[in-house]
Amino acid sequence: MDELLNLARQEQLAVQWADLEGGLGRYILEQRLILLDRSLRFDRALCRAVLAHEIGHHMTRQYADDPSRWEAAARAWALRYLIPDSAARAAWRRAVEEVAEQHGVPHAWAAARLLEVIM
Ligand SMILES: [Zn+2]
Repeated sequence: MDELLNLARQEQLAVQWADLEGGLGRYILEQRLILLDRSLRFDRALCRAVLAHEIGHHMTRQYADDPSRWEAAARAWALRYLIPDSAARAAWRRAVEEVAEQHGVPHAWAAARLLEVIM
């Protein structure tokens, strides 16, 4: 949470708790303000995800005129920020190695099978 709050501060964004009716977070571009719903205080992982998503809106504000593209860009930014490519690749490698070892198959087969179930 701290690194996200530091990033918000660096970007000169204010972050405040609020009672949001509908939605868990909101980014108000004109005010450089992020609102987080108070219910998030009890769910650290969801709070990090929502805050990263709202910072993602700020980082991808060039798409503000196209709401669906802006949502997708903010979500992609947040995912890549919270789970860097290197971490995602390492987790994938561990999963492939584990399945290959458990089932006595080559890594390529384990990877192919894992892809089959997630696609
Ligand atoms: Zn959004």
